[in-house]
Amino acid sequence: MAAARDLYEVLGVSRDASPDEIRRAYRRLAREHHPDVSADPAGEERFKEVVGAYEILSDPAKRQQYDAFGNAGGPGAGFADVQDIFDLFFGAGGFPGGGQRRRGTRGRARRGDDLGVRLTLSFTEAMFGARRELDIDRLVVCETCGGNGAAPGTAPVACGTCGGVGEVQSVRRSVFGTVMTAAACSTCGGTGTQILDPCETCGGRGRRREPATVAIDVPAGVADGMELRVAGNGHAGVAGGPAGDLFASLSVEPSAEFDRRGQDLHTVLDITMTQAALGADVTVTGADGPERIRVDPGTESGTVLRVKGKGVPNLNRRGRGDLYVTLHVVTARELSNEQRALLEQLAEMRGEERGPTQGRLRRPEF
Ligand code: ZN
Repeated sequence: MAAARDLYEVLGVSRDASPDEIRRAYRRLAREHHPDVSADPAGEERFKEVVGAYEILSDPAKRQQYDAFGNAGGPGAGFADVQDIFDLFFGAGGFPGGGQRRRGTRGRARRGDDLGVRLTLSFTEAMFGARRELDIDRLVVCETCGGNGAAPGTAPVACGTCGGVGEVQSVRRSVFGTVMTAAACSTCGGTGTQILDPCETCGGRGRRREPATVAIDVPAGVADGMELRVAGNGHAGVAGGPAGDLFASLSVEPSAEFDRRGQDLHTVLDITMTQAALGADVTVTGADGPERIRVDPGTESGTVLRVKGKGVPNLNRRGRGDLYVTLHVVTARELSNEQRALLEQLAEMRGEERGPTQGRLRRPEF
């Protein structure tokens, strides 16, 4: 409350205003700028300013000091008349129509809670997207009472403890001055209403559990651990508040063929010694159909081939990652006598002596 504005100006009264005029101006302005009423985001600051001005101008001694010296003892001075504040908040002649109208349904309406489910997708579903149906159990608005929790023909009444405001205000003194604190009313749990004759369908809660099936479109390219939001498909709101959201946390089943790293896929293709030596065209089943892999003559085991654009589709944008195929040359085993003789003959023809011989080491290349 360090506002340098003139306190009379804050309340919009003249310097010679009577205590009654000051009081009336304060009530009108406080009502207008109360944070619960004002739609203006600056309303709270304005409200504090008004309260601060009244605090001083309503006390004859402080007003005199303010008139003479431009201050009134600084913070910590406290409300001149605490009862005024309570009158204001509890509608004792304060608000036209009484306290419960002030907040109306705005104060009670509450957004419904979010609902979380797990959704397991196959590797292919995660790659290319899928439409899935989720069975959920959520709170819906009770159709018997329309959500207000009162038996048909009756209506909720304003809570007797808080007068329908939903919270109880108290004034506390601290080193920063007098502080208004608000706590939810324990009688009505902050709703501001009491239900004398509860709806039988929902037991007065206004909502009830109901199983539902929600269709969810899983976009292409999602990954394990991601969360999808289906707006407005969570639990119903309270007192006309909006529904929460439904969150599906995704777990993706691993693939037997592919290792996913980001949007790229990695896989291993076994080829024979002769394919590696002579070259070959090998058709494999990729993630989305047949894929032709060209093995060049003289291919080493461990060679990595890149197939552009055959990886995972990018999430929510065009394009796909790549497919990396590591060629693994499988050495022939369980040779028949004839095969063995042919290989021995080949080794001899190529000058590749069998048995113990001199080897040569070389530095690995990465
Ligand atoms: Zn009901």
